[in-house]
Amino acid sequence: MFRIVLLILVILAGLGCSVNRSSLPNIILISIDTLRADHLGCYGYERDTSPTLDSLAAAGTMYTRCQAQAPHTTPAHATIWTGLSVISHGAGYHNGSDYGLDPELPTIATMLKDNGYVTLGMVNVTILNNDFGFASGFDYFSWHPNGEARAGETVDEYLEWLDDNQGNPNPVFAMIHLYDVHIPFNPPAPYDKAFTENGSEGITNWEADPETGALLTPEVTPHLIDLYDGEILWTDSQLSRLFSELRNRGLAENTLIIVVADHGEEFLEHNGWGHSHALWQEMLHVPLIISGPGIPEGFIDDLPTGQFDILPTIMDYLDIPVLTQVDGVSLLDSTARTADRVIPSSRVSPDKCFRWGLEQHEGLVSILTDGIKGIINYGNEDPGVMFILEDDPGERDSIALDPDISEALDIYWTTPPIGDPLPLNAESVNSILNDLGYIR
Ligand SMILES: [Zn+2]
Repeated sequence: MFRIVLLILVILAGLGCSVNRSSLPNIILISIDTLRADHLGCYGYERDTSPTLDSLAAAGTMYTRCQAQAPHTTPAHATIWTGLSVISHGAGYHNGSDYGLDPELPTIATMLKDNGYVTLGMVNVTILNNDFGFASGFDYFSWHPNGEARAGETVDEYLEWLDDNQGNPNPVFAMIHLYDVHIPFNPPAPYDKAFTENGSEGITNWEADPETGALLTPEVTPHLIDLYDGEILWTDSQLSRLFSELRNRGLAENTLIIVVADHGEEFLEHNGWGHSHALWQEMLHVPLIISGPGIPEGFIDDLPTGQFDILPTIMDYLDIPVLTQVDGVSLLDSTARTADRVIPSSRVSPDKCFRWGLEQHEGLVSILTDGIKGIINYGNEDPGVMFILEDDPGERDSIALDPDISEALDIYWTTPPIGDPLPLNAESVNSILNDLGYIR
């Protein structure tokens, strides 16, 4: 309770209602693909993987309980874009087909563009490109396939755009997606040897039997973790360069920075690897850090949060009314945020991914509320389970679903969709997923 009261006081004292609209801030929303919260120093990791993000958290507010709405890139980013849950926007895989984001749905970019912002989108994976519905509302949109552009190149691209548009009188919204932390884990030197003497030589990716999906070399998992952490440190170094260049250009004082991840990565905690296949916390617990003018410094927010809160938070911060339905709430609105708020996640990747016995798993749903995690699969006769995360953060000792948790899961699962998601060509999606390493 003390934390909640403190939060209310800090928000009231620190933020007031919104920023001064006569000097609207630039906004940079950074999504770091596949970044687990618990591999960052500021979230308690024992390795020094994230000095820049640690400093950003110290200068702003860090949300310790941010839950991804999906463990897969497309649906999770559709949630970040729209403020909608996965069931509501419908992007991802369901009913036997793949869907992109409904290009008619209002997004952060479309709303900010309508309110005088110049909007930039820079993504580094094919499944977030214009064919998947993610370019709506961006004045400038660039994409590179599957990590072809490293974080350094994307930072350069953004800085070059700023330099080429110095006379632009409008505030700028930039959505920057970085892919380096995703497989393959091969950080550039010297980051490849930051946590292992062997560097990127040898195995840098999960290697599975193409027939059974079984992991061929589980013994290399510690090495893969070393390289994963190296990718985080490398990405962090490029964010350091970005923030430093903003300061050099005199832009840092008037820029709101938001850092989030789309999902995490499993390293055999529940006998799985990678992401998309399940709803364990190693895939759903993501970082969320917000820093900028008016944001309380060094504040740690322990209330439940989701990626769908980002859109309403930005609009509340700018005093822009949200005229469309969203499932998230403003993180600046203390009345909308309680410990028992329900944060849902769902809709894992197609059954065709990974082939490790996940048939009918598109009915897999979880909620997090008041520290209790409930999981059920509506695609089979699963009675569901729950975990008390405070006592069992590793989700080892499941207990029977409480009726209230069961009801909350049912409510989420039966939510009517809002979006009319973009049907995608199955063959081309399969080809893309194959290139990404999801189909083996
Ligand atoms: Zn992703």
